[in-house]
Amino acid sequence: MTALMPTYARSELAFERGDGSFLYTADGSAYLDYATGIAVNALGHGHPHLVATLKAQADKLWHVSNLYTIPEGERLAQRLTELCFADKVFFTNSGAEALEGSFKTARRYQSATGNPQRWRIISVTGAFHGRTLATLSATNNAKHLDGFGPRVDGFDQVPFGNTNALRAAITEETAGVVIEPIQGEGGLTAADENYLKALRATCDEFGLMLIFDEVQCGMGRSGKLFAHQWAGIEPDIMALAKGIGGGFPLGAFLASETAAQGMTPGTHGSTYGGNPLAVAVGNAVLDVMTEPGFLEQVQSTAAVLETALLALKERHSDKIDAIRGMGLIRGLRFADALPAGDMVLALRKERVLSVPAGDNVLRVLPPLTTSAAEIDLFCAALDRLLSA
Ligand SMILES: *Cc1c(COP(=O)(O)O)cnc(C)c1O
Repeated sequence: MTALMPTYARSELAFERGDGSFLYTADGSAYLDYATGIAVNALGHGHPHLVATLKAQADKLWHVSNLYTIPEGERLAQRLTELCFADKVFFTNSGAEALEGSFKTARRYQSATGNPQRWRIISVTGAFHGRTLATLSATNNAKHLDGFGPRVDGFDQVPFGNTNALRAAITEETAGVVIEPIQGEGGLTAADENYLKALRATCDEFGLMLIFDEVQCGMGRSGKLFAHQWAGIEPDIMALAKGIGGGFPLGAFLASETAAQGMTPGTHGSTYGGNPLAVAVGNAVLDVMTEPGFLEQVQSTAAVLETALLALKERHSDKIDAIRGMGLIRGLRFADALPAGDMVLALRKERVLSVPAGDNVLRVLPPLTTSAAEIDLFCAALDRLLSA
């Protein structure tokens, strides 16, 4: 019997160590990890640079609070702003907190610029923004909300991909729009470039903050450091987590100077956010991701994966409806008769790890450092299952 609250349908499988793309149980069985802790272990397990950085920091200093300057946090924030639209960064411990901070930043921007009546946020169907009360409300998934009382007020939702519906939902009270450029939990649907451009134009027209939730699709997963960079437009605010710490709990919300103007002293805080251990590892992750050629390598690995997945779909067109996502955040949408959750369990018996998503999708989330040989292993296992 476990003393843990039974909120997860946990597998009995327990891992003792990890190395690269593989996890090992105590008896030494190797599992190919194409779930990566749900898009977290972006550089695989036991990456030498990350391990060395964490060990060195552990010997020096763990925690001081945000009452003092944390040089590694200053450095990580500066580097992040040089890599995207943002001018200001706030570090969090998780994705949901990064979204909460993003919503607060959007509201404060409106209030600081003379529009305190603008406080509502519009999200899209199929979204996932976290499990806190406000992010549950933005997500608006009936299953996640059941039994928790009414949704937190201040969140409206429109159909994904429909700019007209969005325009119709904007009121005098709207502060901003939040969207994942590539939906994760919802089923790996990527927002196309024209839709993202239309969202940017609509937010500009109505004076709204555009918030991108790149908690899952950011940090190199799409083949660019941030997924929205494929569309050539910029948000006002962006939430990050998961891959940014490579497995150490770290998140962030980022904003342009303009968008951040309401976030003055005392408006937000976090005891642990950006603590020395977390930001040291964050810098180490960024060291690797900004090495010349790293993202090009992700893109060429992604091309190998795409070819392999399309070949699988060709061979099993009765069972695979669609290949979704982009880069190394991909999804296989199975025919309704073949539940994605069953496929995850079957793959586990083949010692391959993946994770289901909404809309009967199996998520393919390899480490960004995976190889063509490992992609072969993954696809061969799927091929065996689909042929059986
Ligand atoms: C995982 C996720 C979150 C929530 O992150 P937590 O760290 O679990 O709070 C928010 N948005 C997206 C897109 C995610 O994938």
